[in-house]
Amino acid sequence: MANLKQVLEENVREASSDLYEKLDRSRVRCYACGHCCPISEGQAGVCKVRFNRGGKLYAPWGYAGGVQCDPIEKKPFFHAHCGALAFSFGMLGCDLHCGYCQNWVSSQAFRDPRAVVSPLRVAPEEIVEEALHQGARVVVSTYNEPLITSEWAVAIFKEAKASGLATGFVSNGNGTPRVLEYLRPWIDLYKVDLKSFAEQRYHQMGGRLQPILDTIRRLHEIQVWVEVVTLVIPGFNDSDQELTRMAEFLVSVSPDIPWHVTAFHKDYKMSGPDNTTAENLIRAAEIGKKAGLRYVYAGNLPGEVGDLENTHCPSCENLVIGRLGYRITSYGLTANGCCQRCGLAIPGRWDPAFRAQITAHPYASTMRPGR
Ligand code: SF4
Repeated sequence: MANLKQVLEENVREASSDLYEKLDRSRVRCYACGHCCPISEGQAGVCKVRFNRGGKLYAPWGYAGGVQCDPIEKKPFFHAHCGALAFSFGMLGCDLHCGYCQNWVSSQAFRDPRAVVSPLRVAPEEIVEEALHQGARVVVSTYNEPLITSEWAVAIFKEAKASGLATGFVSNGNGTPRVLEYLRPWIDLYKVDLKSFAEQRYHQMGGRLQPILDTIRRLHEIQVWVEVVTLVIPGFNDSDQELTRMAEFLVSVSPDIPWHVTAFHKDYKMSGPDNTTAENLIRAAEIGKKAGLRYVYAGNLPGEVGDLENTHCPSCENLVIGRLGYRITSYGLTANGCCQRCGLAIPGRWDPAFRAQITAHPYASTMRPGR
């Protein structure tokens, strides 16, 4: 496929009428993310991938910036379809610009000339066919910010659901009530990055805190399964006070929301802070538990964080799911997702039984989309 500018201009469709409204003087307002951009004729929104042409909003369609087969634990979802393969797809672009982005080649493709990608034309049914071929249980929109490409994700999710697959987003959570309502019939799982509890930090990344908090609360209300990740960055968001505020907010939504505190490593433009140590993660996890969260996990440092990769029953303390990195080492839930020892229901979206894990490591799909 040709260069990114052509990708942007050619691979689009008019945005869903659920996600934009027409304003005066041929302007439109987009509601796909929390920026709610007003966009003049000929201009694009903050994300640079949704644009106004002739008084209509256009949104990305018909390509994949990347596809990959991941263990679902990598997303990370720890309370959903344990051990399953998550077939992951992405487009390009993001509505934020975080200095430590670990997917910057996809997310910053339209902002950073160093981000070189080769998008492939693909149809929704091809993605789902390949997911089924690989043995996936879930398809996940990830790598770029999926909210800004929601129409495309929903097209794939409709095909996926018709084939019996579950669906999910890995997202920064900068949503709106409209986009969540649009996604609601088609999405099962949603991972939100809660990057900070400081408004100033979100401003640095090009966003605001409140839409992220509202998204977490709304997702829980509409019964989409939510897990929250905080990349713990020394000196950026790791004070006891800030971590406590994040944890207390999550408890106020539900103490059953899994909170993953994960280790930062120097990436992209953020090379100043030290890498996160196991001690930092253990401290963050203890703060989460003290605040009242029942399921707190320490990620990105497999084997270094003691018991913090595992799921224990909060009632009888029985080990219900053992993990090492993305590998499931033991499974002790009943068919209906209860602790085998005491019968307590462990919240999540569980399969009736643990199936043999297809992969504990990501691998590239051999997919060669052609349509
Ligand atoms: S997705 Fe967000 S950033 Fe992009 S045009 Fe819509 S409101 Fe603006």
